[in-house]
Amino acid sequence: MNLEGVVAEPSDLPVVDHHCHLSPDGEGVAAAQRFRAAGGTHLFLATQQYGPKTPTRLEEYAAQFETTERIARAVEAETGLVVYLTVAPYPIDMIRAAETLGLQAAVGLQRSALELAGRWVEEGKAVALGEIGRPHFAVAPELAEASSEVLRSALEIARDVGCPAVVHCEELDAAGYRELAAFAARASFPLGKLVKHYAKTVLSPEELGGIVPSYLASRDAVAGSLRHPGPWFWETDFLDDPKRPGAVLDLATVARRAKALRASAPENLDLLRIPFEQAVEQVYGFLPTVRHGVPTR
Ligand SMILES: [Zn+2]
Repeated sequence: MNLEGVVAEPSDLPVVDHHCHLSPDGEGVAAAQRFRAAGGTHLFLATQQYGPKTPTRLEEYAAQFETTERIARAVEAETGLVVYLTVAPYPIDMIRAAETLGLQAAVGLQRSALELAGRWVEEGKAVALGEIGRPHFAVAPELAEASSEVLRSALEIARDVGCPAVVHCEELDAAGYRELAAFAARASFPLGKLVKHYAKTVLSPEELGGIVPSYLASRDAVAGSLRHPGPWFWETDFLDDPKRPGAVLDLATVARRAKALRASAPENLDLLRIPFEQAVEQVYGFLPTVRHGVPTR
């Protein structure tokens, strides 16, 4: 057997984007193909509002989650990737829904949609509640208070279902992580299952206070995160909005970064197991696997 020129490409390393969106009106499967071609194997796909209208009825959230599931199954069938679903009513929706429904009804709608999301996890259709959270911008005090109430309900539902919670909020520093950790502790939510998505600043485990960051896979955050033990994730938060090209990282980014790291130093392979295996196993309780180059659940 001639092994010359054979690159040592261990095919058992999963390559995971921990947070992205795909839209039926966007690139959809084609974007996932690009991730696969760059070496990607597993996607955590978060639901989103697909039309121009913010949901004001529970049925609209049910339809939204079903659209996300349809996209996930299409991606799996056409690309061979494994796709995990994250579902919840987008927290900012409450503000827009309050304009037509009134604040109390908007809070009620968020709660019912969160309960629906919890049932999706119980039924094995989704692996986490997300995005839950609060506005990343300043809002009127009554809206901020209502957002906190809803976030607390979301954490309680995720706690009772026993799944991770993926939080959308403003960028956090060490004090911000401490505050969020204290908030979650008051809801008796286990911190090891609390993920701050779209984290830009790399912090030490002490500064993170037990919360798991999902870092936006910029060059700096990727290099910085590798200096810390896990758990932490990498994500693109790809929005799949053709009207806003370049507004976010491309879906192939995590896979390209992983490939470059492996090419530059073979010993990086072990570090890549932090976001792609160790963090997923610690937070979600399952291991994304690859057998003979084929991603499996
Ligand atoms: Zn997102």
